[in-house]
Amino acid sequence: MNDRKPENRIETYPHWDLATWRPDLPTGRIERIYTHWSAHDYGSVFPAYHFCVATADDGRLVVVNTHDVCENMRNVYEGPEQPYAAHTRGRNSFALGISIMAMHGATPDDFGPYPLTEALIDGLCLVGARLAAYYDVPIDAEHVMSHAEAAVIDGYFGSAEEERWDIARLRAETRSLVPQDAIDVGEELRTRMRRMTE
Ligand SMILES: [Zn+2]
Repeated sequence: MNDRKPENRIETYPHWDLATWRPDLPTGRIERIYTHWSAHDYGSVFPAYHFCVATADDGRLVVVNTHDVCENMRNVYEGPEQPYAAHTRGRNSFALGISIMAMHGATPDDFGPYPLTEALIDGLCLVGARLAAYYDVPIDAEHVMSHAEAAVIDGYFGSAEEERWDIARLRAETRSLVPQDAIDVGEELRTRMRRMTE
């Protein structure tokens, strides 16, 4: 995965050390934040999200601003030909997408060669907490949810090809994946985000 296209390289975009990053962004109408994982390796980033939590070549965790937040400060479905970050099906208007870069080849019982780590999860929660504070987004189940929670509501939750389960599990487990996993992990992520705003 070293032959990354420019659009998948950290260096292509504004990026910062996770620990010291503070949002310095255009103001505007942002009402919701969706959390994801990329289902790729630790270092490839994607402009389908606004912010990627990635691992640099030297092992540091970085936050990468892969998409202009302004492009989603509108009803994107009224002008779908204009560019925007398409991170969560049918839910991209006035919404930010943030994502952990990990989970290539992961299944619910085997997270594969690029599993989630506590540091990556904390990094995502820190980015979510700071963006929620910056844009006045309440950290509750209506305004900050995982792609998996949205998929439960919208009827495409699961680990099959056209389904989504990010972020319905924080560690691999052999029992089968159920919608309650999405809800439980969504609540855990929100609790961790709230803790970071205190
Ligand atoms: Zn997703």
